[in-house]
Amino acid sequence: MSRVIDLRSDTMTRPTAAMRQAMANAEVGDDMTAEDPTVNRLEEMVIKMFNKEAAVYCCSGTQSNQMAVWAHCHSGDELLIEAGGHIASFEGGAPAALSGVTCRTLTGHLGMLDLPHLEGQIRADNQHLAQTKLVCVENTTNVGGGHCYPLDMLKRVGNWAHTNGLQVHMDGARLFNAVVATGQSPAKICEHIDSISVCFSKGLGCPMGSILIGSKELISRARRARKMFGGALRQAGIVAASAIYALENNIERLAEDHENAQFLATELAKIPGIKLDPAGVPTNLVFFEVDPKLGNASQLSYALKQHDVLINAGGKSRLRACTHLDVNREQLVKTVQVLAKCLQEGISQHPGTTSGPYSRG
Ligand SMILES: *Cc1c(COP(=O)(O)O)cnc(C)c1O
Repeated sequence: MSRVIDLRSDTMTRPTAAMRQAMANAEVGDDMTAEDPTVNRLEEMVIKMFNKEAAVYCCSGTQSNQMAVWAHCHSGDELLIEAGGHIASFEGGAPAALSGVTCRTLTGHLGMLDLPHLEGQIRADNQHLAQTKLVCVENTTNVGGGHCYPLDMLKRVGNWAHTNGLQVHMDGARLFNAVVATGQSPAKICEHIDSISVCFSKGLGCPMGSILIGSKELISRARRARKMFGGALRQAGIVAASAIYALENNIERLAEDHENAQFLATELAKIPGIKLDPAGVPTNLVFFEVDPKLGNASQLSYALKQHDVLINAGGKSRLRACTHLDVNREQLVKTVQVLAKCLQEGISQHPGTTSGPYSRG
């Protein structure tokens, strides 16, 4: 058991011995000319799972999202996204920088967009106005709280978008968490979605890698973006082998992360000064608030760190703990004890951390 309990993100997972073995044994070739047999096998596997035409393996979820933005839009276009959406908020301003695309952020519900949020938001065909081309949905939602889009909502949003000449991109960084939590297949969840980005480097436990899935035409454009964005790959079978391993071995076990998150949420909710509704924790992300009378989220994060428990502040009073492959139940029991102790001892004397998205106030 590791001394440090790292609940900052499911990106903190490290490849296991079995995954490393699969990587060491991978057959490789040059992926730029479609000659890496392992990358090709991974793309074929994913195409079948999602029932789409084509897929392209890439370096990161940010890269596959931005390839999709570039492939769907032209410079001067606009995309619609929920206000907490990763593509708009946590990708360094890339839609503007790389594609000349502006993000119109809409306030949804739990990080999700439904018709009441979207209707009336498509700009008219007028020379004054950016042209609305794309709707981005996040599944599961990150800042929204790890929520899964209901199938009927995805169908509604997809039909509305297509009727109005828009495309839909799904940021499925944690799509397999939604697959496990809802019991629906990737193909069913993505039936009305034009492109999907899925991360292998989160709960699936790979060292890196992501994949973009969609029509042949779209993925062919996305490959051009991948090259332009510096992400075209050579003997990438080494890492693609980890993704194949993850698809074969690490999907069902995400249920364990969800059970652990539920345990953590239930126990944290019992601590005086912590605000959290365990019923609002559907997958592996546990958001909670600290009573401002006791101190702020950054000070609590600092106090926890002194006891080798890492949880980031995600707002003035809000923190996020993320369960994954590399944290077990015993460590979560310890986390709860440490957190209760920190609040008992007081946190307001601490300087606070400088990491996390809102560290400048
Ligand atoms: C992690 C994540 C991504 C991808 O981030 P990378 O840092 O590029 O791996 C995209 N969308 C969401 C919602 C995420 O949580």
